[in-house]
Amino acid sequence: EEIVFRVDDEWFISMDELRPKLKEAAGKVRWLPAFTGRRMDNWLDNMGDWNISRRRYWGLPLPFYTCAKGHFFVVGSEKELRDRAVRGLEGLEELHRPWIDKVVLACPECKAEATRSLEVGDCWLDAGVVPFSTLRWLEDRDYWKKWFPAEFITENLEQVRLWYYSQLFFSVVLTGRPPYETVLSNEFVYDENGDEFHKSGENFIDFPQAAERAGSDVVRWYYSRHDPAEKVLFGYNVLSEVKRKLLTLWNTYSFLVTYANLDRFDPSEPRVPPSDRPLIDRWLLSTLHRLVRDVRASLDQYDAQTACLRMEAFWDDLSTWYVRRNRSRFWKTRSRRDSLAAYQTLYDALVTLVRLFAPVMPFIAEAMHQNLVRNAVAEAPASVHHARYPTADEELIDDDLERRMRAARRVVELGRAARAQAKTKVRTPLPKLVAVFDEGDRDRGALSGDDELAAIVRDELNVKRLEVRDRAEGLVREVVKPDLKVLGPRLGKDLPKVRAALAEGRYERRDGLIVVEGLELKPAEVLVSHEGEAGHAVARESGLVVALDTALTPELEAEGLARELAHKLNDLRKEAGLDIADRIALRYDGAIAPTIERFTDYIAEEVLATSVKRGLAGRGHAWRGELNGVAAELEIERA
Ligand SMILES: [Zn+2]
Repeated sequence: EEIVFRVDDEWFISMDELRPKLKEAAGKVRWLPAFTGRRMDNWLDNMGDWNISRRRYWGLPLPFYTCAKGHFFVVGSEKELRDRAVRGLEGLEELHRPWIDKVVLACPECKAEATRSLEVGDCWLDAGVVPFSTLRWLEDRDYWKKWFPAEFITENLEQVRLWYYSQLFFSVVLTGRPPYETVLSNEFVYDENGDEFHKSGENFIDFPQAAERAGSDVVRWYYSRHDPAEKVLFGYNVLSEVKRKLLTLWNTYSFLVTYANLDRFDPSEPRVPPSDRPLIDRWLLSTLHRLVRDVRASLDQYDAQTACLRMEAFWDDLSTWYVRRNRSRFWKTRSRRDSLAAYQTLYDALVTLVRLFAPVMPFIAEAMHQNLVRNAVAEAPASVHHARYPTADEELIDDDLERRMRAARRVVELGRAARAQAKTKVRTPLPKLVAVFDEGDRDRGALSGDDELAAIVRDELNVKRLEVRDRAEGLVREVVKPDLKVLGPRLGKDLPKVRAALAEGRYERRDGLIVVEGLELKPAEVLVSHEGEAGHAVARESGLVVALDTALTPELEAEGLARELAHKLNDLRKEAGLDIADRIALRYDGAIAPTIERFTDYIAEEVLATSVKRGLAGRGHAWRGELNGVAAELEIERA
């Protein structure tokens, strides 16, 4: 066997005349990501004539004919073929080989018999004619007009020189216009190590298997939250990561369903007006409607990634901030109206979110819709995919409230770091937290020490007071140390002197430099940290510093012990296998007694105790041990 190099004639479409027209049409298309537009432009600049013939059996037969006298002609339609045929029509089952090759035509010039050139066409000819062949260009021009051009097509980015190009070619030749308005391209898919998939290779993942094992909506979400310009690294580890994110959403959904069933929440009840709901409800509604606005705007730009990441951020906030902070409103109904407001806020947030992600995760969305909406509301849409896509209620978007909540959450985050340093038990209250937003920080002035947001901060950090100040003096001390790796070589024997001066605070800041012992040090040559003044734990981030007053009093310690006890009792409830709504009888003894007697109401409410009595009965679920160093004997029993 040998390979023979043979020079032969082929069919080409000349491009020189078309090139400027194709470039002009391509310039009117929105190419996403933007670099694909430059790639198309570059291709159009550099492409040669289009070789359209293939020496194969399968393929669209080229309608090129030559007669016995050498006259060449192209047949323009099936009708023309039939009109010119002199024989072979009777066996013509399809306009394909072998039948088409038996049709012999009469030459339009000399009437001599003419036969077809045996080549078939490049497959990109059939692919490129799609905007016409599938839209009934030949049979029904009104129908074609209704659908042409396509608003949107999407494919892999190598289609720039293939499918996108061949469609553009046909469209410009036939109409002078581009066949599509927006083209979204995506990168290739690789395995988790960035290697190519091979169908016979070890790394091959069968898609139906992946969908079965990881969940098809998980796969959809993974693709949609991905930047289409970046390679997709596909495998079970990345899918597990995505699943973990979705579990946060699922747990919130399942939280609502559990309590809504227990409390017989009816979603059709008239809504508590948003203005009558607590601040955190109004905050959630504001972020929800901002989300709706942002997701719509992103999807209008064919930017699924931004839409998905916004939704993820929202359901994280929903779980780790809204639900976590409001749990008790769902099971300890202090006020029915307050509880109803919480249910309605969470319900509307979830139902809206489900509709937002329905196009990306159709099955999870449908499961949630059926349960939350269809099972609970008469006249509900039969499917989430029949429901209208959400529209934002701009009235509910409150920029100022969101800014204040953001400031509060920054203080909470940083306050947690300060508490961790202080090493006081989280359940023991501390007297005070001071927060200072830097001048120029976007949240300076957003928070005060005594509103509803301050109450949230105090509760989150378990501090008695929040103070928001303009200056950090008296709370925080700047500590500057030489970076030995840099300054050691530079200063040599001067280093100890400089180090001592820095430690004693004998330095000045001047023009961004630190002046010490007559030397100028650059920021990269020193290590700067912040320490609390005595009795304070301090944490700093860009734009914000918090200082936690760590002085404990017997009062605070007693309260801390009561909280520790409530926490212990709730653990015991779980150990005893009690249901979340079960009421209990609590009996106790030991050195903890005075604390229980002082905080009876608080403890009873926290652990759903209907009776709290001193003295053990020797039955129920018992525990004996020390809490914060105080001996305790406890017994609980379903009441
Ligand atoms: Zn002829």
